[in-house]
Amino acid sequence: MSSLEVLKEPPFQVKEPQDNSRKTVAVIQEMPSRKPVGLLDARVCQLKAGTQVVQVQGDKVEVQTCHVEDGTGRIKLQLWGDQIGTVANGSSYTFTNLSTRKFAGKLFLTATRKSTILQMPDMQGIPVSETASDDEADISMVTGHINAADIVILYSCPLCHTRQPTFDIHARFHKCQWCKMNQKAATYTAMGNGTLVIMTADSKRTLTISNSVLQRYLDHEGFLQLMADHEDVEEHFLDAGQFQFKLHNETVISLTKCPCERAELNSIDGNVDLIDLGESSENPNC
Ligand SMILES: [Zn+2]
Repeated sequence: MSSLEVLKEPPFQVKEPQDNSRKTVAVIQEMPSRKPVGLLDARVCQLKAGTQVVQVQGDKVEVQTCHVEDGTGRIKLQLWGDQIGTVANGSSYTFTNLSTRKFAGKLFLTATRKSTILQMPDMQGIPVSETASDDEADISMVTGHINAADIVILYSCPLCHTRQPTFDIHARFHKCQWCKMNQKAATYTAMGNGTLVIMTADSKRTLTISNSVLQRYLDHEGFLQLMADHEDVEEHFLDAGQFQFKLHNETVISLTKCPCERAELNSIDGNVDLIDLGESSENPNC
């Protein structure tokens, strides 16, 4: 969530033509904008650490940018929503149902709602290009408590994917305000983001956290069900003690509970043998 920009073309087009053929980056580079790319085998050769939030038809949407290569060329690829965080730098994937876009004369690829990303064996015989992330200089690690949290959770219809202007989190059912279909409230997609005020050893910092980072953390900790209520997420953060934050400027890229906090929590539960001290035990602030 490092910046907010307005996207002129929506990433998803409802009636985009189908294409099932496998293409190379060189072929894609010669295509016009808004054309389907059925299949692409490529290696991720550059991955931005942080994500961006862009405005798409009035909605704020999180996007992650990477570059992929296949030996014939290299091209930018945008990932959205659940696709964020599913690729790793240096790994190879079969991407399906991508689409071309053009911005400032440069062609790039965007994933669509129908896209799948399947890891494949490393591509053979392709020279490895520079895989370092371009923004590594701005990445830092800090340790601290969360002193204040403001989490906003928005809900989208599972049928028409429209963001709901209002949503009663305590109701069992919800009628979509766009397609008018009544559905179980639990089937709506929850997307969260927010602001965390943290206290480190020497300063107070205000950080932003995106949906993908928030959901990955909660999933890892086994607390994904908290996404049903923003106050539950906020209170979890306030109660959780010390965190290690990986930051890109003032945006959280990842957060993990400090090993000492795990030890404390686990010993209260009596599950001392579940303590995992391997991950970041070198942290001097713990
Ligand atoms: Zn709907």
